[in-house]
Amino acid sequence: MAAVHESVLDAIGGTPLFRLARLGAGIAAPIYAKAEFLNIGGSVKDRAALSMVLAAERDGLLRPGGTIVEATSGNTGIGLTIAGRQRGYRVIAGVSDRSAAEKSDILRAYGAEVVTAPTNVPQEDPRHLFNLVRRLAEEIPGAWLANQYDNPANPDAHIRTTGPEVWEQTGGRVTHFVAGVGTGGTITGTGSYLKEVSGGAVTVVGADPLSSQYGGGDGSPWYVESIGHFHHPETVEDRWPQAYRSEVVDAFERIPDREALLTARQLAREEGILAGPSSGAAVAAALRVARRLGPDDLVVVLLPDSGRSYLSKVHSDDWMRQWGFLESSDGLRPLIDDAGPLVTVTADATVGAALEALGAAPGGVAPVVLARTAWPYGVSATEVVGSVSREALAAALADGGAKPDDPVGALLGPTLPTVGVGQSPAEARAELGEGHPGVLVLVDGRAVALLDRAQLAG
Ligand code: PMP
Repeated sequence: MAAVHESVLDAIGGTPLFRLARLGAGIAAPIYAKAEFLNIGGSVKDRAALSMVLAAERDGLLRPGGTIVEATSGNTGIGLTIAGRQRGYRVIAGVSDRSAAEKSDILRAYGAEVVTAPTNVPQEDPRHLFNLVRRLAEEIPGAWLANQYDNPANPDAHIRTTGPEVWEQTGGRVTHFVAGVGTGGTITGTGSYLKEVSGGAVTVVGADPLSSQYGGGDGSPWYVESIGHFHHPETVEDRWPQAYRSEVVDAFERIPDREALLTARQLAREEGILAGPSSGAAVAAALRVARRLGPDDLVVVLLPDSGRSYLSKVHSDDWMRQWGFLESSDGLRPLIDDAGPLVTVTADATVGAALEALGAAPGGVAPVVLARTAWPYGVSATEVVGSVSREALAAALADGGAKPDDPVGALLGPTLPTVGVGQSPAEARAELGEGHPGVLVLVDGRAVALLDRAQLAG
């Protein structure tokens, strides 16, 4: 018989494991998924949130009438709001403007106040999410900043609960633990417990977006929310969270967005588990790990949240096509193969250098992107800040509006419309409309080609 609880807070943790029998078919090592979306607030973060609130009360940082403030992609905010409201506090959640809209709606439904901050700004910028919430916590009397990134009560929750659960549920047979790394609380706490209890026998594997810095990427943007470490090109001093202890992680599987997103969709269709994109990344990593193992090994992969919060993203065919994560036989692949490599101009390039680059650009127009030293995986569509055309630059030089050594960033034209590689030429022409010189074609969320009117006409 199911449990009866006096408070929803007592229903946090104690989540089941499900064998991934279909995705794991043909793989010798069994893979079990820890269903963290079954927590009362719908995610793994309920554990860390409750742990942080109780620790703050214990340490005298949170007193009756107090306010909880936090920067959160949503799930920590939900956990903090549930725990905070149950214990009588006001809750303010700061959310990135790139986070799924449904997440903010849920926060408000539970009684939080939501403030938003832009994603694409360096950490030094006062508009950055962390600076915004820090300011609120200073200005509001009795406010406490939960600071999940550096709060030891975050990994602690997993040392006390998630780790022991995984150990007991598998009867001590777990050999590999796989999880994504956001704040690092989950992998650090669960991983360190499992290593200790097993005498170092459990291997801990991080599932990281390909371009995230945890696993060695350049820090350029990716599309799987809530995991990885992003690096803005203008951020000077970058800090990793203290909730993350890199020595706990034995290895990383670096998962491209497409692999993570397609795996999340497969998980729903083949296993009956509707989970979010970070679960897709984790399962993709677990499958890679398990393929290298034998029947005496046992892999546990942690699924942080439900797919219900992402129905308009990873679980939407339209969204997947628009960002270039789904191909189709009548798509743009043949046209981009003919178009040649994309010419881009960085925002800090000079007008003279931009004019030279534009000589090779189709239609004499190129997207302007945030400066990054290397672009090993293409230009992320979210870092395109505008466009420049040969005509506009030449005109500015001719009428004295610009000099050849001026930065091109001051002469930005509008951003170009985008289409996914799986969209049809007709859809691309519709996006082009009358006013735009070309459309950017996205493959896996990254701009790889610019198609102009002539190229789309055929
Ligand atoms: N996936 C989702 C959906 C999350 O909300 C989070 C937490 N932000 C994570 C993964 C990463 O967990 P952690 O912060 O414990 O590393």
